[in-house]
Amino acid sequence: MLQLTISHLTEILPIVKNSFFRVLQACSHNLCLLLFPQLNTPPLRHGRIPPAMVRLITHNLLACHAKGCTTNNFPLQFQDVSIELRETEFNADFIRGFLPRIEYAALVSAARQLGDTSLPAEQPEMVDDEFLQKLHHVLLEIHVEEGAMVCPNCKHVFPISNGIPNMLLAEHEIG
Ligand SMILES: [Zn+2]
Repeated sequence: MLQLTISHLTEILPIVKNSFFRVLQACSHNLCLLLFPQLNTPPLRHGRIPPAMVRLITHNLLACHAKGCTTNNFPLQFQDVSIELRETEFNADFIRGFLPRIEYAALVSAARQLGDTSLPAEQPEMVDDEFLQKLHHVLLEIHVEEGAMVCPNCKHVFPISNGIPNMLLAEHEIG
């Protein structure tokens, strides 16, 4: 009989989470809504849960999911954005744990599109607190309030309004 221990679970969880984001990247919007409802749900419906926010931690996981758009569909390019900076409590362990999942080059490029040049072009070999704090700021404290994200491949425009991304596709664009 299969017995799951805590250590098994901690091994499995990152894999499950990873698959989750791969599904999110590949799915049509109904599945997106199911898996990631805050992407399209007005904030008030969630009550106390904060609304989906366009921050680089989210952007770094988003690829275009339009029909037939499977290559060069990441990262989405920011267009005509307005941003707000909001301080969030620094948690070094969280950032360190998230680091292996970051597409670093895409993050640096996105941060620069938003006017933040604090990250080095190459990920340093030594991950110290200073670097983690820069990552914390770039990933979590820059909020894109208005503008759009544009697919580098099919040029689909995903608008951002009041800090909420609209990842919906028209019927004929759903793959
Ligand atoms: Zn696309």
